[in-house]
Amino acid sequence: MVYDLAKHKGQRSKLVRILIDKGIRDEKVLKAISRIPRHVFLDSSFEEFAYQDKPFPIGAGQTISQPYTVAFQTELLQLQKGEKVLEVGTGSGYQAAVLAEIGAKVYTIERQKELFDKTKVLLERLGYKINMKFGDGYQGMPSYAPYDKIIVTAGAPELPQELVKQLKVGGRMVIPLGEGSQKMKLILKNSETDIVIEDHGDFRFVPMLGNKNA
Ligand code: SAM
Repeated sequence: MVYDLAKHKGQRSKLVRILIDKGIRDEKVLKAISRIPRHVFLDSSFEEFAYQDKPFPIGAGQTISQPYTVAFQTELLQLQKGEKVLEVGTGSGYQAAVLAEIGAKVYTIERQKELFDKTKVLLERLGYKINMKFGDGYQGMPSYAPYDKIIVTAGAPELPQELVKQLKVGGRMVIPLGEGSQKMKLILKNSETDIVIEDHGDFRFVPMLGNKNA
């Protein structure tokens, strides 16, 4: 049983209103956020702040992304029920839960063992069937490729070509690119050789860790 009170549901409705006011329109994304108990993805000391539109620390020097960022990235994916989506940077598992709640088949990779272990237990307890891998997101998960959609939730210094390779033709990838601060990029793979990159504004993410930190 998940600890989810009427007050949490009320706080989620307010959060959804804030996201609508900031321009989020995708009903599937808003519905997922209105259903998921974000407070259980945070340390209990942050519970009372869980429905503020802010990032919070989740241990191992990492953060759960701000709800607006989660909603913005997910909206850009134009995710449909039944699609196969790869997430790089599982973190708390909240973004993966949003993807699963929309009805996608979710594959997610996390580099930090401590977070991987904790989040695996939580997502299973919440009843989500998500394929989780402990490893380096730069390598993707080639055994399940190609993916309809790919979402990267850490700042990458450059576009990982291995992930582009694992994206289906016709697929979409959302990735924050840059060191320090990032530009949110939408990658449209029109064919194996025709890759269009759109810019969707400034964001700030924790950096994507390379092999050295394994
Ligand atoms: N999506 C997460 C959530 O909903 O809580 C937030 C992600 S946090 C901003 C970025 C995550 O990416 C961290 O958990 C970090 O350990 C992970 N990460 C960083 N580099 C990675 C890599 N090379 N492969 C996989 N995960 C990585």
